[in-house]
Amino acid sequence: GFKMGIVGLPNVGKSTLFNALTKTAAAQAANFPFCTIEPNVGDVGVPDARLDKLAAIAGSKQIIPTRMTFVDIAGLVKGASKGEGLGNQFLANIREVDAIAHVLRCFEDGDVTHVEGRVDPVADAETIETELMLADIESIEKRMQGLVRKVRGGDKEAVQQERLLKDALAVLEDGQPARVVEVAEDDLKAWKMLQLLTTKPVLYVCNVGESESVDGNEHSAKVAEMAASQGNSHVIISAQIEEEISQLEDDEAVMFLEEMGLEEAGLDRLIRAGYELLHLETYFTVGPKEARAWTIKQGTMAPQAAGVIHGDFEKGFIRAETIAYDDYIACNGEQGSKEAGKMRAEGKGYLVKDGDVMHFLFNT
Ligand code: GDP
Repeated sequence: GFKMGIVGLPNVGKSTLFNALTKTAAAQAANFPFCTIEPNVGDVGVPDARLDKLAAIAGSKQIIPTRMTFVDIAGLVKGASKGEGLGNQFLANIREVDAIAHVLRCFEDGDVTHVEGRVDPVADAETIETELMLADIESIEKRMQGLVRKVRGGDKEAVQQERLLKDALAVLEDGQPARVVEVAEDDLKAWKMLQLLTTKPVLYVCNVGESESVDGNEHSAKVAEMAASQGNSHVIISAQIEEEISQLEDDEAVMFLEEMGLEEAGLDRLIRAGYELLHLETYFTVGPKEARAWTIKQGTMAPQAAGVIHGDFEKGFIRAETIAYDDYIACNGEQGSKEAGKMRAEGKGYLVKDGDVMHFLFNT
């Protein structure tokens, strides 16, 4: 599955957000299976209204959303790259995630201490990014030393790695994150394997005050500006409100959201933003037993999409019977889609599209 790491300075609302994400009534209901793997790791159902509609048409007994994993990575402070706070251990945790949700304190509250004694989310973002850049520099220098002998011996992979590490180092020493390096197609795989912290996509989470979760405030406006200039995205959330909503039953939560003037829970927006950040898409399998959502990377071919369900589906792939989501709804299900000629037989070269309802045929 895909993993999103929640990072940020102390006291910005990371734990509050993580608790809200993993403790929601919805997350615990049968429809949104949830489990905590470790205290700071939570598996969250990805909300998708389409799945409910498909299940209603097919009369599916069970609805199983696709999931995303959140990891609460506390302990990142100024000096972390030099081993301050819980330092390197946390940097190692970040290495393992696919993307970073960077929580920024945008709320004013005299009762909650700010580590720097002032609310300035743009400066906070720079503090954390600087630590990540320093950590990258250190790890690059170590790795280059480790490569010296192999490079001298003419090892092709080592030569490629060294070249990429040098490209990254040049950018980092210039005070920029490694994600600005333009990587050639042929180098992409090796580049990803370097697992540099500052190549991970970032989603800024503006934690605003309770009354500001619709439009944000002056702090979140500055974060929005910064995010846009970096090509990163941002969401506005009040972690405290989300935690309150997470305690409510579904119908109560809907009423509460209406009262607040919110169309949907901020957590749903956050999860979806993470999905977009990672260029993920969803396809569905629908039957009387269950309606289920599956996650793929954009641009995945049918056999590899089938492989998400089971490796054998990919190995023995014959073809996929496919109905686009809109057709499935318009034709009121599989039978209607078939009759209308909307069910397609697709082969190995088919690029699965977001919302496709798939049925795989395979050899065992
Ligand atoms: P962490 O150190 O980043 O995990 O921060 P916590 O989630 O533990 O939050 C630190 C403190 O800030 C706690 O006392 C929270 O109740 C409080 N807090 C978190 N989010 C908000 C918010 O949106 N508004 C206000 N006023 N306080 C918040």
